[in-house]
Amino acid sequence: MYYCEMCNRVHPQPECPSCKNISSRGPTDEDYCLLGSIGFPWSEMLVDLLKDNEISCISEPAKRNGMVAYRGTTAERMQLYVPYAQLEEAHQLQEALMDGALVSDEPE
Ligand SMILES: [Zn+2]
Repeated sequence: MYYCEMCNRVHPQPECPSCKNISSRGPTDEDYCLLGSIGFPWSEMLVDLLKDNEISCISEPAKRNGMVAYRGTTAERMQLYVPYAQLEEAHQLQEALMDGALVSDEPE
């Protein structure tokens, strides 16, 4: 696996599928990786769930064309990041939470 420092994404090929940068290293346990782009209110529920499981998590409003998508209103989608060491566990919690709800990992 390779890790893109620009996008905080883990991907199987050296070229990042999002920004096309060529990654030169793999992820370390401390690297924050994109868990997904998640819509409200699932994002807040997932953050709470991650905290309950002692997984540190960073959330930020989903960006569109490099700009923050919202202006003074509640963000429609949040992008969540967790340490690579806990990415798999976080994915499982995410799947357990969503369980049939629509969620997308697409960057847009
Ligand atoms: Zn990238």
